[in-house]
Amino acid sequence: AAKSRGGNGIAAFTEEIRAESESRDIVELSLRSSISDDCLHLVYQPEVDMRSGVIVAVEALLRWEHPLLGLLMPESFIHVAESTNLATELGTWVIRSAFRQYAQWWSEIAGLDVVLRVNVSPGQLVGADFVDSIARELGEYGIDGGNVCLEITENAVVSDVDRTRRALRGLAGLGVQVAIDDFGSGYSSLAQLKQLQFDVLKIDREFIRDLGDSPADLAIVKSIVTLAKSFDLILVAEGVETEMAARTLLDLGCYRAQGFLLHRPLPADMVRDLLITNRETPGPS
Ligand code: C2E
Ligand code: MG
Ligand code: MG
Ligand code: MG
Repeated sequence: AAKSRGGNGIAAFTEEIRAESESRDIVELSLRSSISDDCLHLVYQPEVDMRSGVIVAVEALLRWEHPLLGLLMPESFIHVAESTNLATELGTWVIRSAFRQYAQWWSEIAGLDVVLRVNVSPGQLVGADFVDSIARELGEYGIDGGNVCLEITENAVVSDVDRTRRALRGLAGLGVQVAIDDFGSGYSSLAQLKQLQFDVLKIDREFIRDLGDSPADLAIVKSIVTLAKSFDLILVAEGVETEMAARTLLDLGCYRAQGFLLHRPLPADMVRDLLITNRETPGPS
């Protein structure tokens, strides 16, 4: 791109950086007020055991209803929060909102048996007070730690292995599971598996999308299935969009899946209706 700027490359580049940091400030500022102004909400995407069709987990996903820009997806603003001191505040909002919703489903639905998955940023995870704050919120909402799984995206470099390890140990003490999200998309997947004790591994949707058509993806997913078995991890495939991908995963022994083929992210009340009728139904045959 530098070339296309012609002779004025440096000036244009400087301008770009300035504009970028200005838009960062704007995002930060308006996100800060949105946290208090009720402009954020969570949607929930079910995860299914494809052998039975039963929902085994729901993942909370953040949405920002921006007063001017309309609906914003997390990938357009999460990184801004993470590069500022907003990450903790936003993360706390997400955890409290998801826990509150889960507690409500718990009170409404007899025999509720699904895990609540919540994404946390790596900075949040190693924050001084994190494990204590999870313990506190679990108590506050009367949720058993065993019903919660926190997801850490693999892409985000785990910069401090010792602190991460300590956090994982603390969470394990609460019975809270931890998932390594987007597995395979980063460059440190295997090192992280070796160094840190995770409970769940979610295969990045990059490898799932063309599964069935792509020998390379098939080989990769096959080896991840083996890896998950060896490390005794619960395995989940993300981004299942086609029958072909679903069938291939079942053949490979990866039963848990999340994806548009199964369920889209949904508002909480629609998820409640699904959870009420959450009984064995025939999976993809
Ligand atoms: P993720 O945790 O890997 O969440 C799965 C993403 O894949 C979601 O995007 C979901 O809508 C999308 N997805 C699910 N099934 C399919 C499918 O079949 N096809 C395709 N193309 N996409 C599918 P979303 O909601 O836009 O979230 C993107 C990412 O933003 C999340 O990826 C997660 O890393 C991050 N994120 C979302 N909510 C939060 C949050 O509350 N806190 C933090 N720290 N990160 C969040
Ligand atoms: Mg996730
Ligand atoms: Mg993911
Ligand atoms: Mg992701």
